[in-house]
Amino acid sequence: MRGSVLPWILFAVPVSVGACNTPPPVEEPEVRPWEWTEAEWRAPIEAVRAGRRLAPSEWPGGNRVAVALSFDFDNETVSLRDNNTSASVLSRGQYGSRAGLPRVLNLLRKYEIPASFFIPAVSALLYQEDVAEIVADGHEIGVHGWIHERNSLIPGDAERELIERATDTLTELTGTRPVGLRTPSWDYSPNTLQIVRDLGFLYDSSLMADDWPYEIVANGEPTGVVELPVEWILDDAPYFGFSRYSALRPHSTPDDVLSIWKAEFDMAHAEGGMFLLTMHPHVIGHRSRIAMLERLIEHMGAAGGVWYATHEEVARYALENSGGPD
Ligand SMILES: [Zn+2]
Repeated sequence: MRGSVLPWILFAVPVSVGACNTPPPVEEPEVRPWEWTEAEWRAPIEAVRAGRRLAPSEWPGGNRVAVALSFDFDNETVSLRDNNTSASVLSRGQYGSRAGLPRVLNLLRKYEIPASFFIPAVSALLYQEDVAEIVADGHEIGVHGWIHERNSLIPGDAERELIERATDTLTELTGTRPVGLRTPSWDYSPNTLQIVRDLGFLYDSSLMADDWPYEIVANGEPTGVVELPVEWILDDAPYFGFSRYSALRPHSTPDDVLSIWKAEFDMAHAEGGMFLLTMHPHVIGHRSRIAMLERLIEHMGAAGGVWYATHEEVARYALENSGGPD
């Protein structure tokens, strides 16, 4: 019996290795960027670009650093927009309302920190009492799509209609018209910026060209729209995300994330800049992570000179106190 197994292994291994080394078939790409003219490769670069940096010499109260905490209250909408209606998956979203949000709001109350909540309209309709509580605590509500749709994968007129409807829905629920947009998943279609301008938003918070606020320039033209830049390293989701059916499940420990966020804050403090975090109640609201966020708040408090503000407050102040040409 043993003698018959060995030849099979010797035969099987080379076949297996050979199969792994077979290159995938080369498909002819539909778009051939290496053949673009200069006008063609400049066009996407110039369409949406960082313009002048909005960098006040100091923040209100003589503070050194502006800290803008945001919480994207997505809950089930990220699953719904992908047509994933598994009760198990959806329950992870509901956690954001039942367990996560109360911890987030209690922490913000304890340290008297104003924050910004970007809420897909469907989530706001599902959790109207939560929205009322967030508003009652004095936090800002911003637009975050209708159902967390992937706005670059839908027709431009649908993207516009959904942002309009989401803005109107939040206005009806809160009594205040939002002045800021964070696109779902920080996605940006060729139409997004024009929609932002047409709807009169003060600021967008979806792009990543700087650590400071900046003015968005469209084809060389300053738009007057403030960008409050985000970053994946300043987002809880990539560190703590989890895909049940992926071979890669790179959960980070709260201590890992705390060390990165502390280092990001420390240099923002040294530079006199802005420190903007994107978090999600269904992600950061877990016990080990909300405890980590409190440790970060304690760290920032010990550093001193922190101006906690909503995104709207940072955008207005940066725009009005940066000088320079419009
Ligand atoms: Zn989101």
